[in-house]
Amino acid sequence: MTERLTPEQLPRAAALLRAGGLVAFPTETVYGLGADAGHAAAVARIYAAKGRPRFNPLISHFAEAGAAFAEVVADERARLLAERFWPGPLTLVLPRAKASRIDLLTGAGLSSLAVRVPAHPLARALLREAGIPLAAPSANRSGSVSPTTAAHVLEGLDGRIDAVLDGGACPVGLESTVLDLTGPMPLLLRPGGVPEEALAALLGPVGRPGAVTEGEGGLKAPGMMSSHYAPGLPLRLDATAVGPQEALLAFGPPLPGAGAIWQLSAGRDPVEAAARLFAGLRWLDEEGRRLGLSGIAAMPVPPQGLGAAINDRLARAAAPRPAA
Ligand code: AMP
Ligand code: MG
Repeated sequence: MTERLTPEQLPRAAALLRAGGLVAFPTETVYGLGADAGHAAAVARIYAAKGRPRFNPLISHFAEAGAAFAEVVADERARLLAERFWPGPLTLVLPRAKASRIDLLTGAGLSSLAVRVPAHPLARALLREAGIPLAAPSANRSGSVSPTTAAHVLEGLDGRIDAVLDGGACPVGLESTVLDLTGPMPLLLRPGGVPEEALAALLGPVGRPGAVTEGEGGLKAPGMMSSHYAPGLPLRLDATAVGPQEALLAFGPPLPGAGAIWQLSAGRDPVEAAARLFAGLRWLDEEGRRLGLSGIAAMPVPPQGLGAAINDRLARAAAPRPAA
């Protein structure tokens, strides 16, 4: 059952979020589907509720610029933009801080993070009351249009999320502008509520993804696979046997004989597996190299539910990639 909460019930919404629940809330752009951005299982539930076929990176929302900049490496451009446009419909993509508490799944395993301070008074009040950053993509089923009312949210997600905080219709109805500041040239990844001209007035020329091609640290357009995390050790899919020279990504009872094992989900729960996927790939890569292993073998994951997104990510991590 999805609870429909009034603004007066904001403490209830915040408590659900702190407990790892999913709560849709209004922002000035569209309704977001919020979860604790530092809580892997909660973020995995976002993907499950939306029925996303792959793990695209989510925007983390904060009550204050200071809280956002604690999670990323912010430069002068970022601080200038934040001063001018936050709170507001501008998302900044910046290098992830080493000490960031944002879960790897929130950033879909990338080394960058997308951060924003929304202007909607109810969103800000919720962020303050919850006291945690909220990962929040639009609160619709994957492939549907972004919702601008609580009724739209319920049309797609009733019964799939814990609550919707009803703050009426969203004023902008456009998504946030997404600007990549990880390279020397600012790149407009998605046009939105803050016009490009306003950004250019502050920053000078703004580029487009695709104009430049670089490896990690270069560009991060949605769906640009080369920018996604892949382990250094080769990854072998659908393993039915494993040797001592290999590290194993297990799903259910592990195949015997591996040199190292990361269990995605002993009980074969795809949501738990999603929550442990990116941390597992990194750990197996590090541990495997430390032990001098030759590669990582991944056990098959059935393609139901989040299994499809897990397989999509594994296939990309296993694909041959251009030399850096
Ligand atoms: P939505 O959650 O539906 O508002 O969409 C989030 C947008 O931000 C998508 O276009 C994402 O690709 C983009 N985004 C989020 N995080 C990153 C990141 N680390 N690098 C590049 N793009 C990002
Ligand atoms: Mg969306």
